[in-house]
Amino acid sequence: MSASPDKVMALARRRGILWPSFEVHGKVAGFYDYGPAGTAIKRNVLEVWRRTFVVEGGLLEIDTPSVTPYDVFEASGHVEEFTDLMAKCGSCGSFQKVEGLLDGIHPNPGTLTEADVGPVLADVKCPDCGNIDWSSSEFNLMFSTAIGPEGGRKGFLRPETAQGIFVNFSILYRLARERMPFGVAQVGRGFRNEISPRQGPIRLREFNMAEIEFFVDPDEAAYPPLSEHLEVVFNLVPAGANPVEMTAGDAIKKGLVCSEYLMYFMARTATFLETVGIDRGRLRFRQHEENEMAHYAEDCWDAEIETSYGWIEVVGIADRSAYDLQAHIDHTGKELKAMRRLEEPVEMRVRKVVPVMKQLGRTFRSDAGIVAEALGTVDPDAATGKLVIEVDGRTFEVPPECYEVSDTVETVNVERFVPRVIEPSFGIDRIIYSALEHAYREEDRDGEPFTVLSLSPEVAPWKFGVFPLVSDDGIVAIATSIDAELRTAGVDTIYDAAGSIGRRYARMDEIGTPFCITVDHDSLDDSSVTIRSRDDRTQVRVPVEGLMQFCLNLIKGEGP
Ligand code: AMP
Repeated sequence: MSASPDKVMALARRRGILWPSFEVHGKVAGFYDYGPAGTAIKRNVLEVWRRTFVVEGGLLEIDTPSVTPYDVFEASGHVEEFTDLMAKCGSCGSFQKVEGLLDGIHPNPGTLTEADVGPVLADVKCPDCGNIDWSSSEFNLMFSTAIGPEGGRKGFLRPETAQGIFVNFSILYRLARERMPFGVAQVGRGFRNEISPRQGPIRLREFNMAEIEFFVDPDEAAYPPLSEHLEVVFNLVPAGANPVEMTAGDAIKKGLVCSEYLMYFMARTATFLETVGIDRGRLRFRQHEENEMAHYAEDCWDAEIETSYGWIEVVGIADRSAYDLQAHIDHTGKELKAMRRLEEPVEMRVRKVVPVMKQLGRTFRSDAGIVAEALGTVDPDAATGKLVIEVDGRTFEVPPECYEVSDTVETVNVERFVPRVIEPSFGIDRIIYSALEHAYREEDRDGEPFTVLSLSPEVAPWKFGVFPLVSDDGIVAIATSIDAELRTAGVDTIYDAAGSIGRRYARMDEIGTPFCITVDHDSLDDSSVTIRSRDDRTQVRVPVEGLMQFCLNLIKGEGP
């Protein structure tokens, strides 16, 4: 029997994976708690993510605040653009996200604008009261807040972690030893005040993101690491065309995916999703239609997974061009740029912000030196009037008489440019939900129903159940010592001495524990234990000596 959201969420609650938050006070849509098993699953999924992208891909990982000043999102365009089209029912007062309301009614509701939605809504009944009385408007999804006791500075809870990376570009470029391309990862919470979240853990108002901003030279189209992934096969849904199955190599050759960087991250994403238990047959990559793209994107392929909610986007892999860095340069005057060596030195007109030392000395006295140095990092094209400069947490207001913008001709062998950004953005909660659905199955064993969660060993919250068959002192001593040794080796286990062995196995099947170790009477004589596999229910006898290595191999997929 197949999974459904009701069945999966019932199991998730029963076994401590996931449930709606704040229930004792009346739950609020769009918020979920991870229980003990869910927290372990999330940690494991993120570990695979870090291994795949941060460690193997050689990225820098950082961690920046969720509360973000207004200016950052004003610069990034989110204040203006990060909106969803919302419909208000004049009859019952409910709010609906237009995209959700028109799902199945309009071929592509995500592309509608406020101007053209009116006639489309004219025949659509309110799902809450059944009447038709709509007014529509754009709604900004960011949660706003105020920073400080008197709320002196407006701010937002970040709707994506990306901006925390962009505003740190100069520091990160230096830490990457000024080499291109380089990538920065960030794992953290994103907050979006979704209009009417109804799809359980698929549409949350606070959710877990794992994002990569990969900075590339816009003149450099080739990305050699892709060569190792050319054979990866994809289900591709190009914009305005029929779905095709194709290797990464062919998709690049035929120009279906026009960037080697995008293709590389699509290939790595497919591998990552498969490792955490997503069925490859139910994974596809869909290209955004031109008018569906986020305000910052030039091209975007979503990894979508088929679940009982339909095809859901779990990862957006976008080419953000130089949009974000340029936006922060325009708003701050900071030179968020990289350097490339020219093949031959050239004579070039160089614009620079040059300190007028006499005035600086008068104005800033002992700080004149550090202000002069900081002036050298100001973008000359943005330098007009009073400049506000931050140095080591101190703010200096530099009046126009303290600097000049000079134009000289110099022989230079490097040039500065604003990097292009490729951004794979992962919604971890959606990935976890999809992995739960794909792992869920119901079995009939001699007329009795059983539920099995076939999570991959890496993702399963506990790798081994350890059971003494009966409460005999000798048997218990062996079982507790095996349990302790596994934990000391860093392997999560569940020790369970209660109930029939069949019930204990069933509990482990339901929470996704891939293997169980049972110590029985024979163990006292032959120093062996039984290891039972969740998926095929086979049992093997394994000597206690060497058991640790055997167990470690098992969870790496190197079975008996
Ligand atoms: P986006 O920046 O909109 O491309 O979002 C990046 C990823 O975050 C998406 O691919 C989703 O997996 C996830 N995501 C976006 N919005 C939500 C939400 N409201 N609840 C849960 N996950 C989300």
